[in-house]
Amino acid sequence: DAKKRVCIVGSGNWGSAIAKIVGANAMKYNNIFETRVTMYVYEEIINNEKLTNIINTIHENVKYLPGHKLPENVVAVPDVVEAAKDADILIFVLPHQFIRTLCSTLLDNIKPTAVGLSLIKGFGRGEGNSIELISKIIEKNLRIQCNVLMGANLANEVAEEKFCETTIGCKDKRLAPILRDLIQTPNFRVVVVEDCDTVEVCGALKNVVACAAGFVDGLGLGDNTKAAVIRLGLMEMIKFVDTFYPGSKLSTFFESCGVADLITTCYGGRNRRVCEQFVKTGKTIKALEDELLSGQKLQGPATADEVHDMLKARNVIDKFPLFTAVHRICTDQLRPADLIDQIRSHPEHV
Ligand code: NAD
Ligand code: 13P
Repeated sequence: DAKKRVCIVGSGNWGSAIAKIVGANAMKYNNIFETRVTMYVYEEIINNEKLTNIINTIHENVKYLPGHKLPENVVAVPDVVEAAKDADILIFVLPHQFIRTLCSTLLDNIKPTAVGLSLIKGFGRGEGNSIELISKIIEKNLRIQCNVLMGANLANEVAEEKFCETTIGCKDKRLAPILRDLIQTPNFRVVVVEDCDTVEVCGALKNVVACAAGFVDGLGLGDNTKAAVIRLGLMEMIKFVDTFYPGSKLSTFFESCGVADLITTCYGGRNRRVCEQFVKTGKTIKALEDELLSGQKLQGPATADEVHDMLKARNVIDKFPLFTAVHRICTDQLRPADLIDQIRSHPEHV
């Protein structure tokens, strides 16, 4: 087979961290992959210089992953069509709100044989107040197969090469080892499962639970309460998958994309941090996102909103009190101090 060309579509905090790994593995396995890896960079001017120029000269994404060198074979490209046009493997790693625009730009401008790997945690809005998986939006709009990668992977720690695991959801037995070779390192261990939808839903929903964990921290309620909130969040995640994606495996929740990602995000994530400050400062989520994250984007509050609309339309809000409370707190319909009242009589307790 011809060598596979890889394009990373996105260059934020996680996009840049994964570029470090993918660039190194493209060099290491230069019998499988073309060594030149393109990275689509949403152009910005930083101190009078284009971010793409900075990345291509000093090999560092100074805005989204400062302090880490990217491999020199990773080439920043400001035009996404140019970056993606020859790629056999497209790694999607943008905040989820930008995916539809991106797909319409890329449609008919990529190889018809290309395959996708989505690292995006979040949902799109589907028809009739439903949610749509990002991988399905990519499959439908770009007419390519799209696999997923989710896990307990705080980008900065991955970039520091601290040991962790991740989960790839891929049903294609020929492709799975290729994706694993592209992603796995001695400190970034990959498990491939076939239960793709559950992997992806876990990645999106844990951000909602992380908001609840942040509220608990902001309220100073302590570790037992936080553990209870994480557990109830996990039970709602399982219920959600059971209700809307029947046929999934319980074992997937024990992979890195499930319990492990819940733990890391509820302790070290951006959603947790912003939601803690929401309680402590009384500022809006949007203001805190701008103030604390230097251009990085939050996924949890938007995901809670999307999930809420679907739960409401399907008349199952009472089965998901934690998800519902997070949405209501983020939209100022409920005070953070009232969070616990909403889960005191959780369906898990009766
Ligand atoms: P980020 O939060 O750093 O977001 C900023 C990125 O969005 C930048 O690359 C910026 O250029 C880009 N952007 C801003 N406006 C844009 C526009 N109009 N069009 C296109 N791009 C625009 O991004 P991230 O951390 O790389 O997150 C991407 C996805 O990966 C998210 O779904 C996130 O949940 C997931 N994820 C993040 C982490 C993490 O630790 N950061 C870990 C695992 C998964
Ligand atoms: P945050 O977006 O809350 O930082 O979570 C990052 C993540 O997905 C870690 O796996």
